[in-house]
Amino acid sequence: MDRIDDKTTRREFVAGVAATSLVTAGCRAPTQRPPREEERASADAPSLKPIAQLMSARERHWVGDGFAVSTIFSPRLLDPQLLSPFILMDHAPEREFGPTATRRGVGEHPHRGFETVTFAYQGEIDHRDSHGGGGTIGPGDVQWMTAGSGVVHEEKHSRRFSQVGGAFEMVQLWVNLPARLKMTAPRYQALTGASFPSLSFGGASGRLIAGALQGQNGPASSHTPITMFDVTLPASTESSFELALGHTVLVFVLEGEGVAQGEQRVSTGDLLVLDRDAPGRVQLAANSATRLLVLSGEPLGEPVVARGPFVMNTAEEIQQAMQDYRRGLMGRLAPTT
Ligand code: MN
Repeated sequence: MDRIDDKTTRREFVAGVAATSLVTAGCRAPTQRPPREEERASADAPSLKPIAQLMSARERHWVGDGFAVSTIFSPRLLDPQLLSPFILMDHAPEREFGPTATRRGVGEHPHRGFETVTFAYQGEIDHRDSHGGGGTIGPGDVQWMTAGSGVVHEEKHSRRFSQVGGAFEMVQLWVNLPARLKMTAPRYQALTGASFPSLSFGGASGRLIAGALQGQNGPASSHTPITMFDVTLPASTESSFELALGHTVLVFVLEGEGVAQGEQRVSTGDLLVLDRDAPGRVQLAANSATRLLVLSGEPLGEPVVARGPFVMNTAEEIQQAMQDYRRGLMGRLAPTT
């Protein structure tokens, strides 16, 4: 998405700034109470990981003219160390677009120092970058772009979707790169939904996008250890899984309503941040048909300085990125044919 620094100063953010005042806007206090000692000790039921934070969808804003998104988390909404290696997530909930001759979306803008992962749920997204990466993704597909040392790209509704119109829903996630890989060569992975191995959680099912789970491997290649999958739960079913201790675990409710970790009510647009240092399973019981996106990754444990479309480790590196972009070192897009 477009986080460009020049005109849209309202979108600028620096990690940590104003975090305290903003957190209250989107955070709900978890209703879950801490387990009593006898519950911790109980061997009957598998232990459940405590919830560290619960975030709720906030007001939507437009990114370009194609994406009406709610920012679920970002460094200014929540301590970036709590989310590492994930930096930001925008959710564009289902929205109808009418047919149009011009493609909606976000025009040419740069990125450096991280990866953008785009999940298409409804509608189609076209991507084109200065490193030669590009393609169209449709429902169920994922596009994983490593900006690394720097790309310039555009993100638009596909030509076909623009002409026909219809329902559109997507998520964009920013995944951080460790300091040693911030200047790695850009890379583009087009991941089709058909390539995701199926997961089974009793009555619920899932698709493995990255990492290893249930003896399978997701097709996405990540620079640091990451497990990423989605879960589809019919009404009155439950899913339960366990991820690596010490890794960040985020569960986003794309749609639906249910109870997480035994007693926390969650619904569409909610994000659960689990306590990464406590052992235990993640569990969700769906009251209605529910879809989840689950993200897990090894924390980088490095400073995060995020500004506009760049995410680096120091303010000096941000200045360098801006300078390099202005000098054209991140490339330019070829004119549209
Ligand atoms: Mn972008």
